[in-house]
Amino acid sequence: MRKQFVVIGLGRFGSSVARTLMKLGHEVLALDKNEQAVQGLMHDVTQAVQADAREEETLRALGVRNLDVGIVGIGDDLEANILITLMLKEMGVPYVVAKAQSIQHGKVLEKIGADKIVYPEQDMGIRLANNLSRTNVMDFIELSLDYSIFEIIAPSQFVNKTLGKLNLRAVYNVNVVAIKKNADQIVIAPGANSVVEEKDILVIVCNKKALSRLPD
Ligand code: ADP
Repeated sequence: MRKQFVVIGLGRFGSSVARTLMKLGHEVLALDKNEQAVQGLMHDVTQAVQADAREEETLRALGVRNLDVGIVGIGDDLEANILITLMLKEMGVPYVVAKAQSIQHGKVLEKIGADKIVYPEQDMGIRLANNLSRTNVMDFIELSLDYSIFEIIAPSQFVNKTLGKLNLRAVYNVNVVAIKKNADQIVIAPGANSVVEEKDILVIVCNKKALSRLPD
């Protein structure tokens, strides 16, 4: 579903978030007080505006309160980061994501109502370590503390068997939500008759313990 986002602070983090959201088909209003940062993104987003986002009037004039998600990517200026997160929540933006510099900063953001707090470098580090620790895990999205969506290369023991025969839910407590056959072909919600083939990528939902029990 197409959503409307505002991204405030277009450093490395904010600008990659803004560009990716556009590629995914969403509407993105991008804001930075720095002219160069705005210029750099002008052709890549729905609207790029140069403004100091601490000014509440500016945010109101841009209609920020009617947008679905606010992302605060300001890094070094803690005061601006906290103030803007607070203003977005007070204006009624339903979902506000804020970038934190430290655990303490994250706690403050949580107290003032941020819906999601990201620690880009730590998050990336954890992601990378998880990816590297199992050679057949290609990517994952954390759903909760325990559950994630993983993309794994089909274990050799699974090859040429149907999902019905493998019975992964009962045996490993793993749900297969899609099978990627190649770059263009993906079977969504595969049924019991779907056959796992060599080099397939299985998109599974399970907890981390279940993942570690899967054969390589
Ligand atoms: P990163 O580490 O992701 O590159 P930075 O902290 O370097 O993040 O980038 C933050 C961006 O936020 C900068 O482009 C800066 O101009 C912008 N910024 C900082 N304060 C404000 C503000 N009050 N209003 C709008 N943009 C801001």
